Amino acid sequence: MIRLNEHFTKLKASYLFADIAKRVNAYVAVNPAKPVIRLGIGDVTEPLPPVCIAALHAATEEMANRATFRGYGPEQGYAFLREAIAQHDFAALGTKIEPDEVFVSDGSKCDIANIQEIFAADTRLAIPDPVYPVYVDTNVMAGRTGMNRDGRYDGIIYLDSTVANGYVPAPPKEAADLIYLCFPNNPTGAVATRAQLAAWVAYARQHSAIILYDAAYESYVRTPGIPRSIYEIEGARDVAIEFRSFSKLAGFTGLRCAYTVVPKTLQARDAAGHQQAVHALWHRWHTTKFNGVAYPVQKAAAAVYTPEGQKQTRALTDFYLGNAKLIREAMTKLGLSCIGGDNAPYIWVNVRRDSWEFFDLLLNRAQVVITPGAGFGRCGEGHIRISAFNTHENVTAALTRIATAVM
Ligand code: PLP
Repeated sequence: MIRLNEHFTKLKASYLFADIAKRVNAYVAVNPAKPVIRLGIGDVTEPLPPVCIAALHAATEEMANRATFRGYGPEQGYAFLREAIAQHDFAALGTKIEPDEVFVSDGSKCDIANIQEIFAADTRLAIPDPVYPVYVDTNVMAGRTGMNRDGRYDGIIYLDSTVANGYVPAPPKEAADLIYLCFPNNPTGAVATRAQLAAWVAYARQHSAIILYDAAYESYVRTPGIPRSIYEIEGARDVAIEFRSFSKLAGFTGLRCAYTVVPKTLQARDAAGHQQAVHALWHRWHTTKFNGVAYPVQKAAAAVYTPEGQKQTRALTDFYLGNAKLIREAMTKLGLSCIGGDNAPYIWVNVRRDSWEFFDLLLNRAQVVITPGAGFGRCGEGHIRISAFNTHENVTAALTRIATAVM
């Protein structure tokens, strides 16, 4: 009989959000009259900006007409969107990214999951803890790790993000080949300063490593001077790939659009030791395995870059940041220290006790669902993540309930 990919059997059996759902469903089954407010999973609640809706309608009309109908598009994305991205997301920051270095896709999750395919099986990984689980699990599936022992996989250099380092890990002593970084961070909401990112770029240059920089929450950065892109750091073009998404910028979680930047100056070596452009391989990956994003969706994404789109998406992210501020203030008032929420839609609260125990307490006493930090990795223990993706009404109601339950 055909054998399965045995690396899948190394995956930790539980999946955080499935575990949460199980506990919440069990609670609701016994307490149907007590409505639960969910500040757990990081999905947006507000509808798409009107500019995006108008672009979707207009593009749908084009698809209804023989003269303007479009079939298969370019796998890497239409020029109109790649050019808008290069101009507004990079040239505007003073960084130089060419439109053909931008690869449009249907999600950062997919891009982050897929990009590891172009690197060797014995690539040494450095991955933060706590972490967005996709970085780890995709590498487990690919066989780049050993077994899971006490919640950690053999063969990964874990980058501990703790109170001690302000939740921003410094480069390790060991040499890594592939480094995952995420700022503003999910789950902690922490942001990295220019100096902290410069240390990572210097490390990557020293070790001929590549940084996979996940900037899915870039649009939440408000503090002046905090880099929005890794390419704001001198020399990053030679060592970094950046992931961006329209999901949290413009509420595209149900529409799906994102992009990955692979600079043409980025090199890796082949088995014979010769340098090869990573860009060519990723281009090949896209052409072979991806059909491109739907034309109307790309038109909706391009609408984000119009003056009206910029205003509307800013209002959208400001709205969630308004919730985040309320959450942060409420936690501080309860005497709990926290980070995030000022440049990110997540607040990472140091509850100084077992995170699942705190989850149960909030569920049972306040009917509020948060995410226990332990689900994101060993360093997440003692913390919870609260998501600002909700209505103002739900957030204020949840905070009142939490205050009563915890006091
Ligand atoms: N990266 C991080 C850190 C995320 O939190 C998420 C979504 O939650 C993603 C990437 C995925 O974004 P997308 O919706 O574009 O797949």
